[in-house]
Amino acid sequence: MLLFVVYAVLVCYGAFIGRRRLGGWAAIAAGILILVMVNTVHGHIARVFHYGDLLPVFRVLMYPYMGLVFACGVFFVMLPIELPRGELHCRLCRYDLTDLIEEMQAGGRCPECGATLAMTSTRRGRRQARLQQRIRDTSSPEPMTGLRIRLHPLSGQQSDDRADQQDQQRQPPDEEPAGRRKSAV
Ligand SMILES: [Zn+2]
Repeated sequence: MLLFVVYAVLVCYGAFIGRRRLGGWAAIAAGILILVMVNTVHGHIARVFHYGDLLPVFRVLMYPYMGLVFACGVFFVMLPIELPRGELHCRLCRYDLTDLIEEMQAGGRCPECGATLAMTSTRRGRRQARLQQRIRDTSSPEPMTGLRIRLHPLSGQQSDDRADQQDQQRQPPDEEPAGRRKSAV
């Protein structure tokens, strides 16, 4: 019987890990599918071993259990992906926009996927932005895809020269603080 508890926890864990993504829903679907299969196989076994009369006793527990696993899975898959306070991340591609807050609020586009804040605030806008991104990617593929993946800000600490390369591609180099520049002159 403990196995049922462990199974439910596993499905919920899968839903939680893949939350707000297709993976979480896939975990729930797989979890329910396996239960349906177990139920069917058990039905056949019961008939072969002639205890089919007792099947309703098993199923009166099995069906609510499936409902429970599904409901818990949906709860976990819908949990928000928490982001550190004070940081801004693109709601479409999760790109870190913390340094671009002002530009983004003025209607700027995410450097990674090209979506604006207004677009990503609604489900419909996100779908549209994703579609536009796909069209862009297929019509003019990113020339430095490999480099772009390695330079992703979530990949941890970047060495100085990787950071320099990124500056050459995307952003002007950092300006020296005004105070220090004056004192140097
Ligand atoms: Zn983005």
